[in-house]
Amino acid sequence: MVRRIGLKMAPRHVLRCCQRSLSWIPVIFINLVVGWSYYAYVVELCILSYLVVFHLFFIMFIWSYWKTICSRPANPSKEFCLPNVEKEQYEKEEHPDTQQEILKKVVVGLPVYTRTGTGAVRYCDRCLVIKPDRCHHCSTCDMCVLKMDHHCPWVNNCVGFSNYKFFVLFLAYSMLYCAFIAATVLQYFIKFWTNQLPDTHAKFHVLFLFFVAAMFFISILSLFSYHLWLVGKNRTTIEAFRAPVFRNGPDKNGFSLGFSRNMAEVFGDQKKYWMFPIYTSNGDGNSFVTRLVNLDPEQIAVGLQINGKRLFMISFIPDSVNDLASFMKFKPDLS
Ligand SMILES: [Zn+2]
Ligand SMILES: [Zn+2]
Repeated sequence: MVRRIGLKMAPRHVLRCCQRSLSWIPVIFINLVVGWSYYAYVVELCILSYLVVFHLFFIMFIWSYWKTICSRPANPSKEFCLPNVEKEQYEKEEHPDTQQEILKKVVVGLPVYTRTGTGAVRYCDRCLVIKPDRCHHCSTCDMCVLKMDHHCPWVNNCVGFSNYKFFVLFLAYSMLYCAFIAATVLQYFIKFWTNQLPDTHAKFHVLFLFFVAAMFFISILSLFSYHLWLVGKNRTTIEAFRAPVFRNGPDKNGFSLGFSRNMAEVFGDQKKYWMFPIYTSNGDGNSFVTRLVNLDPEQIAVGLQINGKRLFMISFIPDSVNDLASFMKFKPDLS
């Protein structure tokens, strides 16, 4: 009898064990879901998304920064040097007026439309070249720099035609880098002042990280906005302080071709390359498209830009249908 009862009890015991085990399944399920949600939120979402965005800004910032540092300033091409005969004449001559006469003869064949404030041909006595439009001699680099913007101590280089795009991108990415750091550190910064941070050395990193990022963000923001405005107006920092002087007098908008063309002058025609510190600026830096109103009528060689190809003496592009109409009307007066 005992054996029979024992045999009957065993399956019931096993069954109960199974039931008890199975009853843990919902608990295990909830624990797995909680564990997974913790991992997904903390590791995948917070750490990975922060790190991915952070590194994206960091790489672009360092890339454009080093491109600005390493780009050699562009110098005037050989055609702006005086031919040997004129050079000798110029060096022998002591009277400035006669020297100007020599320069005026040479400049006729060059795409140079700007003059000094007194109407003289812009000549660099150190580099011995006729300065192309927008070119200036940098005393720090001791050379003439094409489309010189300013000499920047933060990159230990001249910012000009060869690296202006990189410089603007450097400002943009350093600003985003600082903004991202300040925004993500803000919550810890608040905790610092409410004494909720553990007392470790990380506490002071958090404090200074926020201060430095916020301080740089504010100062770069103003500089970046200013340069974006300059790009839109097609002006360099030097030209913003002192308008370029054309034959008809100073004109601060002398090189402006309309907002979208001004943007393309610096960033290039293909928008897909605008965000990258890859050289895509338009033109050669030696000659620039100027507005027709500023030209000396005797020197005008009128033409159109065809498929973005710039002709040597061309200085007028119709901006719209209206401009084209006025151009057509204006044409007979020029002949
Ligand atoms: Zn020079
Ligand atoms: Zn310089």
